[in-house]
Amino acid sequence: MYKNILVPVDLEHEDQASTMIRTALEIAGSDTPMTLLFVMPEIPANVALQLPEGSLAKARADAEERLGQLVKAHNVDKTARIVTKVGSPHHEILEWADRDGVDLIVIASHRPVLVDYLLGSVATSVVRHAKCSVHVIR
Ligand code: ADP
Repeated sequence: MYKNILVPVDLEHEDQASTMIRTALEIAGSDTPMTLLFVMPEIPANVALQLPEGSLAKARADAEERLGQLVKAHNVDKTARIVTKVGSPHHEILEWADRDGVDLIVIASHRPVLVDYLLGSVATSVVRHAKCSVHVIR
């Protein structure tokens, strides 16, 4: 049914990533292309200037390494891509979904500790504005 799945992973709160990947696999099967996307926070230019040279490249490489470990742990090396972007998470998630022809986004509703929230801010924007189906994991 679905041909191209996007799983946005917040590496700052990685605990839900496995559930999201397993859910995507259950919905679409292991042959369906999947993209794991982590959006890194944008660092203001004046702050970036103070950082040691290469810090941002290292942060990106670390994020790719962690996404790569998730891909391996779930045996989806052949079908899953890993992508890192910099910017506002909901904007980058929605833009990637549009540009890449994603037909399903699998996202967690919010951090488990924030029990009072039905949907976190990123999940809210994605559910509200995505042009494709969104599966929200409570
Ligand atoms: P909370 O405010 O409780 O953290 P969010 O709406 O921010 O809730 O997060 C819900 C889900 O949105 C995450 O599990 C993840 O799927 C996605 N998400 C949030 N931030 C990012 C990010 N920086 N990169 C990729 N996905 C993200």
